[in-house]
Order: sequence, then structure tokens, then C-alpha cells
Amino acid sequence: MLVIDDAKTNRHYVASLLAERRLCDECLEAEDGLVAFKVMRTTPVDLVICDLNMPRCDGLKFLRLKGTDRALDNIPVIVLTGAEESARKIQALTSGASDYVVKPFDPSELVARISVQLKLRKLQVELVRANLELQRLTQIDPLTEVSNRRHLMTQLDAEFVRSRRYDRPFSFVILDIDHFKRLNDTYGHPAGDTALIQVATLLKQSLRIHDSLARYGGEEFAVLLPETGRESGILAAERLRLALEGGDIRHGAARLVVTASFGVASYPHELVTKPQDLISLADAALYDAKRSGRNRVVGAV
Ligand code: GH3
Ligand code: MG
Ligand code: MG
Repeated sequence: MLVIDDAKTNRHYVASLLAERRLCDECLEAEDGLVAFKVMRTTPVDLVICDLNMPRCDGLKFLRLKGTDRALDNIPVIVLTGAEESARKIQALTSGASDYVVKPFDPSELVARISVQLKLRKLQVELVRANLELQRLTQIDPLTEVSNRRHLMTQLDAEFVRSRRYDRPFSFVILDIDHFKRLNDTYGHPAGDTALIQVATLLKQSLRIHDSLARYGGEEFAVLLPETGRESGILAAERLRLALEGGDIRHGAARLVVTASFGVASYPHELVTKPQDLISLADAALYDAKRSGRNRVVGAV
């Protein structure tokens, strides 16, 4: 918690009240809005109690300053104001204050209002966290925990627009595990599942941080390679192919031999005017890789 007041005695009074009511162990203090703003940028604060009238940077200026920083914007501020300052109360509330307490105040009222704001803040933090988790769940494949197809399609659309706008190349790779049905039939479906998880891990380890990997279908994966032209895209796919071929994929004591076939399509390409065209080209190249013997990379021409 942070108490802002130009009068040291006021600050100490509020700080000792908060300590006494066990609302905070160690209160931060600032003598004006600017000092407070600087403190908040370096130290986590869950709530601010702020005087309005202060020399240099007053309470309203502080509220406006705090509103400019997205990381601080949601931290509640309770303003301490004189009873005669009705217009200023309204101004404070419209400038971002969460509540106000009129001076001289009843300590129990301040404590009660602080509790309300802390409770609201806690709910808000939980809501944001739950939303992020929900968003994450809509984007990942539950088995392999890489992106799902829908998320990759969103990324592909964005990459397409970006590459066209800045005249940059990128590549799209589809890979399909060879004879995966046979692996399932031989070792069982659970072995197939763990193989898919290990394939995802091996692929992820062989990619760069900016590349995006997704489970595209049952035993198919796709990779988006930004800033990667045709030759580099084929090399990257070859690296992935080798990683799978040489990968130590296990089911219990058994080592499973897992290979995959790859189709690579790159932008720009004379036949590609929309993202779906690139997918079709990569798909056709993958089909060629299967037909010509599997465990190989084919680049769309
Ligand atoms: P090809 O080399 O032509 O790709 O042969 P394939 O056997 O890999 O291809 P096919 O399309 O005939 O079979 C795909 C198999 O992948 C069949 C399906 O049961 C299996 N599969 C798809 N999703 C999963 C999964 O989540 N877990 C497991 N264990 N198997 C899956
Ligand atoms: Mg398949
Ligand atoms: Mg297959």
C-alpha cells in the first residue's frame, strides 16, 4: 500500500492505522504525486491512499499520470478530500479514483472502504487470470500442448498480411507422420498418443523462437516460418525430418521409429494470392512426398 500526502504527520497517521488494522505490514509513503508515480513503477502496490491538495504534483495530476501507464491503471486509489470540495471529489472520481473519504475521517470508514477496494481488485485480478487461461485453452491442442489448427490459421492470416505489406518472404510446412496407423496397430493407441507428444517436443526443439508449430490434424503438424524463403524453408523442414528420424521416441522399453513426410510452400509465389493457396500448395507437396516414398521433404514449385 502507498500513502501520498505532503504532510508527514498525516502520512504516518494513515500508515500506522493501516499497520494497526493489519491491512499492510510496511506502508510505502510519498510526499507528492510524482514521487508516488516513480515509486509505483519500481515497487508493486495493491492500493493507494492519496491526498488531493499537495504542492508540485497534486492528487488530480497523480491520477492522470497513473492513467497513462497501463500497468498501473487498475490499481485502486482512495482519495482523501475536504468536505467542502464537492467539485474536486467529482473531478477525482472522473480522473480515475475508485473512492473518496472526507477529512477528518472516521478510521473505521477508511478501513472499510479499503477492504472493499482490495476485494474488488482481487476479483478483477482473478477474472483477468481466468480469461487468459480460457484464451490459452482455445489456442492449444490438449494432447501435445502445442497450438491448435485454429490458432495457427490466425497466425498464418496475420503473417500473410505482414509479409505482403513489408514485401517479406515466409514459409508454411505441413508434415504427416508416415504409416502412423501401423504404429497404432502394433503398439496400441496409447503408444500412438505418447509418440505424438514426443514428436511435438522434438519439432519444437528444432525450431526457432519466432517459428510457430501447431497440431494440424490427427497425426499432422504444421509450421509457420516467418522471414524464411523457399530454400531456407526446405532446409528447415529437412532439419525437422532428421530430428524425427533420429529422435529417441519411446514407448516404455520399445524405441519407436517415427518418420514423417513434409510439404513446404513459400510466399511470395505466383499462384498464391491468399493464405488458403499456400496451404493447398503445401498439401500438394506433402502428397508428392508421400507418393515418392515418404520420409522426405518436397518443396512446392
Ligand atoms: P501415411 O504414411 O500415408 O500418412 O499413413 P498413415 O497410416 O499415417 O495415415 P492414415 O491417414 O491412414 O492413418 C492416420 C492414423 O493416425 C489413423 C489414426 O487412428 C491415427 N491417429 C490420428 N489421431 C490420433 C491420435 O490422436 N492418437 C493416436 N494414437 N492415433 C491417431
Ligand atoms: Mg494423415
Ligand atoms: Mg500419416
